[in-house]
Formats: sequence, C-alpha cells, structure tokens
Amino acid sequence: MKRRQFIKSAFGTAAVGYIGGAVGILFPDEAVAFSEPTGFWERDRIITFRRPDTGENGVIRHFSRREGGYLQDGYRQACWYLRDSKDNNSVAKMDIQLLNLLYAIQEWARMAGKTNPVMTINSAYRTRRRNAQIEGAALNSMHVAGRAVDITIRGIENWQVAEMAKHFNGGGVGHYNSFTHVDTGKLREWRG
Ligand SMILES: [Zn+2]
Repeated sequence: MKRRQFIKSAFGTAAVGYIGGAVGILFPDEAVAFSEPTGFWERDRIITFRRPDTGENGVIRHFSRREGGYLQDGYRQACWYLRDSKDNNSVAKMDIQLLNLLYAIQEWARMAGKTNPVMTINSAYRTRRRNAQIEGAALNSMHVAGRAVDITIRGIENWQVAEMAKHFNGGGVGHYNSFTHVDTGKLREWRG
C-alpha cells in the first residue's frame, strides 16, 4: 500500500485492519529512511505540543538535514519539555527515537490535511519515585526510562493515533480512552 493511501485511509472511516501488513518505516537508520519518496525523514523534524500540567505550548525541533542532522539544542529543549514536572522538574535523556516517532505521527497528521494537529503531552518522563505513586503504572515503565509518552492529537481520534504508532513499528502502543501511550520498547500493544 502506498503511504499516501494509508494516510487517507487512516483518517477516513475505512477500517484499518491492513496496517499490520504494511512495511514499517521506522526507524531511520538513515540510509534506508532517506530513500522514502516523500522525503518524510529529510524534513525538519518538528513537534508542536502543549502540556496542560505546566501550561506550556512549544515546538520541538530536534533534527534538520540542512543543519547537519540531529540538533543538540533542540534535543536538550525536548528533554526539558518532556521532564517530570511533578518531581522537581527532573530531566532525563529522552530516547531520540521516541522524538522521531512523535514527529512521524504528527507529520502524518499534517500530511493528512490537519491544519494544527497539536500534540497534547499528558505524561512523558517520570522519575522512579513519581512512577511508583501512580496507580496502575508498571514498575519498569518505559516512562522511567525516558522512552514513553502519553499523548492525544487535536483533531484525531485516539485509536487513529494508536494505529499510526503501530504502523511505524516504534515499540509499545497502549490504546486508552483518553490518550494513547507510545514507547520505544518491545513491539507490543494493549488496550487500557
Ligand atoms: Zn504511558
């Protein structure tokens, strides 16, 4: 299936059961990824987000081909934005592939014609201490490792976000009613 068709279908009402058979395009170990015909991975990787718990709105830009690839400042900023705001604003080294995954999901939303598919970040990095206080959170949560976020995207149903995340083969995908958990751990999926 051509990616463009997938994008259309994923946002339409059609069933998306074929996705499992599609070729995953994550992760850009770059030679392969840059042959992507749409130039998907060559663009500046930008994530527009909001964090309700801190009131922040911002833009993460962690990669620019023109500027030589991964951007140190952008990455540092991303780690700050994805910090544990409820435990002394603790910052972790976030998994760069997680940022790529978030970019990929949002960029697809843009390609599908969503004008401002801002990503709401409900939870990202969590300290071990903080994670232990969350009811139902796994002890070895990917959040603790800086490899998970819980998100919603404006204008897109949570199940669609989950389908996109699965398509990219980034790792774990948890589909909850009020958000989607995505991580870069083992490929697995569940319903919350
Ligand atoms: Zn989560």
